Amino acid sequence: MYLTRFLVRYKQSGCEIWLNTLTGAVDRLSHDEVSLIDAALSRPDVDGGEPLLNQLESRGYIYPDETAEKQAFDLLVDQHAQAGENRITNLIICPTYSCNLRCVYCFERLPHGNLSRKSMDLTSVSAALAAFKLIREQEPERRYSLGLFGGEPLLPANRMVVSQIFADAKRNSLPVMIVSNGVNVSSFIPVMEEYLSSIWAVQLTVDGPEDIHDKRRPTARGRGTFKAVAAAVDLLLEKGIKVVLRANIDRDNIGRLPELTSIANNRGWTDNPAFSCSLAPVKDHLRSGRIPNVTPEAELLSALLDVYEADSASEELFGFEGFQMLTTIAGLVKKGEPSTPRVYHCEANYGGFWVAGPDGFLYACPESIGQPELAIGRFIPELEVWNANRDKWVERNISTITACGDCQISPLCGGGCTYASLAHQADDARPACEPGLIHAIEVFLQKRVLPSC
Ligand code: SF4
Ligand code: SF4
Repeated sequence: MYLTRFLVRYKQSGCEIWLNTLTGAVDRLSHDEVSLIDAALSRPDVDGGEPLLNQLESRGYIYPDETAEKQAFDLLVDQHAQAGENRITNLIICPTYSCNLRCVYCFERLPHGNLSRKSMDLTSVSAALAAFKLIREQEPERRYSLGLFGGEPLLPANRMVVSQIFADAKRNSLPVMIVSNGVNVSSFIPVMEEYLSSIWAVQLTVDGPEDIHDKRRPTARGRGTFKAVAAAVDLLLEKGIKVVLRANIDRDNIGRLPELTSIANNRGWTDNPAFSCSLAPVKDHLRSGRIPNVTPEAELLSALLDVYEADSASEELFGFEGFQMLTTIAGLVKKGEPSTPRVYHCEANYGGFWVAGPDGFLYACPESIGQPELAIGRFIPELEVWNANRDKWVERNISTITACGDCQISPLCGGGCTYASLAHQADDARPACEPGLIHAIEVFLQKRVLPSC
């Protein structure tokens, strides 16, 4: 009998919580049960029979041998790879790396490269759209969307370019996702209305009530932006355009989430089915030390669980999406059934991003833009894909990263951020493990799972 290596054991007085990171099973065991299992595991002749052992086997905690566990793992990897082919591939255009805001945590302002001040003109956007057409033709069975990202894509100078992108999306029946800071949304409403059927959603960021949002997301001249962004949410919803409100969180604003929830309720946003929210922990993938208040995941999660404990409306609205690693466990607690574990860390690992920058390069991840050494190809003068570079992203999962092979939480983590590995360590084979992930899982088990397990 073999005890799975995908096991997190959280010891409490009187019991242990076992989390199987491969199958998503979570169970509470008494110390007597744990002793029985330990005794059985130390006797090679035991091959089950005990009702408890049978139950543990059915939940993937124990296998006849290591090979059987490997087979279960390989099956998961295959299933996940097939599911990846059905996921959406995001073809993203950054018309510019310039922005009218100076957010305190902006990764694009880190001194990692030369985010050129250049913006796309109509010719370079045509080249990007032509490259995307070829990419779609090479894998026509995939589903695609068009994205607008930046810098800030909705700058007045980009109006023609944005209109050109919308027209292409309409011609090719591609849904468009716009990631904007929201400040100039009102002046882009006419063109959005012209292509309404192509606009899938607009993602705007609000970091809390006015005072904290304005402190974190001021304009280049230091003015607050909350009022403009809130008015943009009102306007988009009024026009029937889907809004995804994102809150970037760290220890500075996590406690203000209930106030943001109240604002969303009071302005009637939450009554509109076209409105949804997500959380994104602020990260410093480059470990630059230049982003203030980057908060360890366990600390942030602990604070978030306290917020949700006191304000269930905030949990209803924001959930745990931003804590990618927890979606499996959170799904289990909420719906009573585990969701699929993660073989990849993010979309970049199944070729889910093609990002065209104003520098003429193509990137595999929106955070790696402006760093030609991380580019996976270029679209000017025409499409060129550099497969050796691209494979560093798309061939990367928990079965191909040797260093993740012994990791007990790999099916929750998915192998870590490729950008962090490449940019921070210049090595895609060495995962840049986020510190304290196990501690974050324990916090979740202790505060959320234990009481209901
Ligand atoms: S990146 Fe680190 S934490 Fe994530 S699966 Fe690999 S070894 Fe585990
Ligand atoms: S590679 Fe890292 S930074 Fe890029 S999208 Fe994935 S998680 Fe985000």
